[in-house]
Amino acid sequence: MNEATHPASTDIDRSHYPHRSGWIEVICGPMFSGKTEELIRRLRRAQIAKQEVAIFKPQIDDRFSADHLVSHSDSSLPSTSVRSAREIMEKLGNATVLGIDEAQFFGNELVEICRKLAAQGCRVIVAGLDQDYRCDPFEPVPQLLAEAEYITKTLAICVKCGAPGSRTQRLSTESERVIVGAQDRYEARCRYCHEILADDQS
Ligand code: ADP
Ligand code: ZN
Repeated sequence: MNEATHPASTDIDRSHYPHRSGWIEVICGPMFSGKTEELIRRLRRAQIAKQEVAIFKPQIDDRFSADHLVSHSDSSLPSTSVRSAREIMEKLGNATVLGIDEAQFFGNELVEICRKLAAQGCRVIVAGLDQDYRCDPFEPVPQLLAEAEYITKTLAICVKCGAPGSRTQRLSTESERVIVGAQDRYEARCRYCHEILADDQS
């Protein structure tokens, strides 16, 4: 696709940006599959290499901490909570490596923000659920997957049968798409053992 028609190129004034191109890495999969662990691992390595790193997560996700990324296995890294994807641009500082967790809570605006950051020369590492509790694609992660240079799909272990846990099992009958919770509300299941328990199933 040529420069003029590429959506990432049309609204970006390149004169302010370094020549070096950035890129987008997406880490996706169900809950408990190690997305946050993997995000923390990549960000720690960048910090060790003395890269300027900034780490963001959505304010809605305060399950474990408001100012740290915390994995289900208790590894953690300081982070900034933001209300919207746009706020990431405001709080970026001099960072050239960006970590963004729980992408599914940011909405489609995140795609454009990641595009801009990559065009500015940033390495953007985004982690999030690729499917909701019904196994439907969870925007904006599918759009980010289409845009990304590097994609990692993480899998948990199905708690029923031990097969690859690619699905997030909601344990309650609530039907809202977003209900924030951890082991109290969700568990990892494979495609065979996953069930939708929501009340509105006909
Ligand atoms: P995610 O960000 O994908 O929700 P985390 O990185 O926060 O995952 O946590 C991964 C950790 O979750 C694992 O290292 C393990 O300690 C724990 N865990 C809990 N349930 C499972 C499961 N069913 N399969 C694998 N790991 C699990
Ligand atoms: Zn199973």
